[in-house]
Amino acid sequence: MVIIGITGEEIRQKDKQWGPSMDGQSQTYVDAIVRAGGTPIILPVTSNVKVWEQYLQFCDGILFAGGADIQPALYGEQNHESVTDVAVDRDKQELYLIKKFLEKDKPLLAICRGMQLLNIADGGTLYQDIPSCLPNASNHRISSEKQDVTFLAHQLKIEPTSRLATILQTCSLGTNSHHHQAIKEPGHNCIITAHAEDGIIEAIELPEAYYAIGVQSHPESLGDAVPVWQRLFASFVQASANRNAAHFTTVTAE
Ligand code: MN
Repeated sequence: MVIIGITGEEIRQKDKQWGPSMDGQSQTYVDAIVRAGGTPIILPVTSNVKVWEQYLQFCDGILFAGGADIQPALYGEQNHESVTDVAVDRDKQELYLIKKFLEKDKPLLAICRGMQLLNIADGGTLYQDIPSCLPNASNHRISSEKQDVTFLAHQLKIEPTSRLATILQTCSLGTNSHHHQAIKEPGHNCIITAHAEDGIIEAIELPEAYYAIGVQSHPESLGDAVPVWQRLFASFVQASANRNAAHFTTVTAE
């Protein structure tokens, strides 16, 4: 069994604002992990650090999922007017999990907001709003505007020497686009591994890490439309299994 934590988010019930929030995550992440042979577990947001420690222990890998904008204060900026939807508790929990996972050298896959948070954890920064910061960029919200998670917004140019290119077995791949923010300065240990045609950063990885890959788009929604993307989830679950097995071997050998 390969346990893959998927970071959850608090969800307000629109028709029941007075009620408690719910914890969850999009089914597409769950499906992508299951298809890859992993056992998905959604990690609810809590402020209890002991529970974060337990997440670190029982997860073989963590998928840092999409969601709200990250608080700009975390990279030293004031909020742009477009940044209204932030999740302060989720930011804290996930930054902790990313840092500890990198320390322990356990596998992580970071998608959309997850990739942006990985970059911030590594000392990088973001463009808070692509349309106002980079007026010549293409529309990176077009798949959301078309209300179609499989709408292919742009091609990615993938660095041939990157781990991502090795995993996907291609240097050019279509993908969807559901973001209004993007990486500005990459973190100290990150390398940029893919761009959109307009130059927006669409993937990063930490080459020194056992497995730390970030993508800006939502390949978890493309399992049927662009099956090549499923190789990313397969490699992530496999890396999580291998890391676990390696650790187990080390422990029992002592
Ligand atoms: Mn994009």
